[in-house]
Amino acid sequence: MDIEMVRGDITRQAVDAVVNAANKSLLGGGGVDGAIHRAGGPRILAECKVIRAERYPDGLPTGQAVATTSGELPAKWVIHTVGPVYAKSQDRSHLLASCHTDSLRVADELAAQSVAFPAISTGIYGYPLKEAAPVALRAVRAAPTNVARVLFVLFDEASLRAFESALREEQ
Ligand code: ADP
Repeated sequence: MDIEMVRGDITRQAVDAVVNAANKSLLGGGGVDGAIHRAGGPRILAECKVIRAERYPDGLPTGQAVATTSGELPAKWVIHTVGPVYAKSQDRSHLLASCHTDSLRVADELAAQSVAFPAISTGIYGYPLKEAAPVALRAVRAAPTNVARVLFVLFDEASLRAFESALREEQ
């Protein structure tokens, strides 16, 4: 698997699937979630509502992923996953890892070859970048998947630096 990192806006990526750092409700939010729904249009929310009603009446559990089509986005699919809220007193890294593993499992079901991830949980959910980046990277690296290309799309310089440094430390 090829792992790349770029600074940019995930809504602009022409990959097979982009991952959304959603919340349990699947009904939209701020950060990446807001950007994806704004850029992709109402079709994504309509599909999320059906998924809620049919499969997850209590919301999507943390660490799990589901897919919708992508409306107006250049990507073909949106994979929605719910990252953990950071807690100093409790290690939730297995949930953050699971977001990546389960997103790649869903990507395999869609036969997606290329997948873009944002820095899940590092915005509103408060995960420190330095802790999140190696967890994300290791989970992607270890996932049993046919996805050939994973692109981490980092919104600002600090996020890009944290992910690049996690990549260097891996080697
Ligand atoms: P969470 O609730 O999981 O913390 P957020 O969406 O608040 O998710 O933030 C996750 C990361 O995504 C943050 O680093 C934020 O800066 C970044 N981000 C926000 N908008 C975009 C975007 N359009 N493309 C890529 N990353 C984004």
